[in-house]
Amino acid sequence: MSTDPMTLDAAEKAGVPVVDYERIWLEPKCADDNPKYDEGRTWCQHDVYETCPDCGTKATEYVRADLHVSALSELDTAMAEIERLQEALEPSGDTKAAYMGEFSVRLPDVDEDGNEYTRSINVPWTTIKEIMAAIRARAALTPKGE
Ligand SMILES: [Zn+2]
Repeated sequence: MSTDPMTLDAAEKAGVPVVDYERIWLEPKCADDNPKYDEGRTWCQHDVYETCPDCGTKATEYVRADLHVSALSELDTAMAEIERLQEALEPSGDTKAAYMGEFSVRLPDVDEDGNEYTRSINVPWTTIKEIMAAIRARAALTPKGE
């Protein structure tokens, strides 16, 4: 596969099949104004362009629209998942209702007749909130509005 930059017109004239590349790079903008590039601004399916030594302009990268839309959709899905995880780790009426009574500690004890038994103590909401805060801190999540 050629890595030489080529205009679309030149590609068509040369009989090079025009395919829908996933991404292309446009030569730095100043190439249009530079007399040393008589063919004008070119593009390539590979990032072959150097940063312009005169003005520091870099090639412009374009991503095919369907791939961009797909990436945005994946981002939306990931953002929704993050939102659900944040909600699950924030103390609220909903999370209190979901977690209270779900966790307990079993301790050996002796009843009034001297019989040993195992007592079950619910983990208090305060402790559950401390655990949620530790998880948020580990994940570096910031509660909304903070
Ligand atoms: Zn330049």
